[in-house]
Amino acid sequence: LMQLSIPLNFIGFVYREIRQGLTDIEQMFDLLDETPEVQDRPGAKPLRVRSGHVQFENVVFAYDPDRPILKGISFEIPAGKTVAIVGPSGAGKSTISRLIFRFYDIQEGAIRIDGQDIRDVTQESLRAAIGIVPQDTVLFNDTIRYNIRYGRPDATDEEVRRAAELAQIGPFIESLPAGYDTLVGERGLKLSGGEKQRVAIARTILKAPPILILDEATSALDTHTEQEIQAALDLVSRDRTTLVIAHRLSTVIGADEIIVLRDGRIAERGTHRTLLAARGLYAEMWNRQREASRAEERLRRAQEED
Ligand code: ATP
Repeated sequence: LMQLSIPLNFIGFVYREIRQGLTDIEQMFDLLDETPEVQDRPGAKPLRVRSGHVQFENVVFAYDPDRPILKGISFEIPAGKTVAIVGPSGAGKSTISRLIFRFYDIQEGAIRIDGQDIRDVTQESLRAAIGIVPQDTVLFNDTIRYNIRYGRPDATDEEVRRAAELAQIGPFIESLPAGYDTLVGERGLKLSGGEKQRVAIARTILKAPPILILDEATSALDTHTEQEIQAALDLVSRDRTTLVIAHRLSTVIGADEIIVLRDGRIAERGTHRTLLAARGLYAEMWNRQREASRAEERLRRAQEED
């Protein structure tokens, strides 16, 4: 039996290795999958980012020609400012972030960065200029140090540590027995959604891209974690052209402009204050969300009292 159990163990080990390998490859393909139809134009030049001004001009887009998603969207993010996109689920908010990366080409209109149409520049230079803090960060099966350094592979240990501090995840990492050498990912320590998001923020701090996209997590985080993450996000987005894709409304209050998307068009736009005063769709979403979080709070307190 001994003789048999060793090879079986070994097979189990190999099987897990292969499965994990496949998961990583699948995740890579998920990312790459989006790009095959988009090609660099012959003679495409690198994007030259001067101030990081982003412009959507009458953008029309559909994944499937029979189902238009964006029906003529125009907005600008002046250099260093923050614009937030809100709207009902399925309105096309995340689609806008995919279009800035040029994962798809638009059917009409133009997207420009510092005056250059993104179809005229190399995809490599375009993607190097944009950092994204995604909803759900993919962690590599490696140390937490490696995962943060991925934002800029030549960063020193000290720079990695500083980025983690700024992203509000430093104390957590230092509390782990193996510290920055802790293995994370599928085979290592499983990080919570909020911790993963802070790893993504630390990566972005290291990458220091001129343009930043924050794809806010759909899942609710507890108030304390949310405040910590908000502080980290405020720090990375300061003085950097930022687009916030807001699935909830908590991150948009300070935005220079909020764009409310509905049925493929911009239904309303303004600051938090002006939109509340207008008592339209945004005000309605805001009140509904506040009501929901109050109800959640009441439920939590009732459970604590039990
Ligand atoms: P949520 O707040 O729920 O995340 P969203 O506003 O970000 O929604 P998008 O992810 O931009 O919405 O999706 C907009 C619409 O486009 C949805 O109806 C969705 O089904 C559709 N869609 C998204 N991705 C694809 C795709 N790859 N192929 C076809 N349709 C897609």
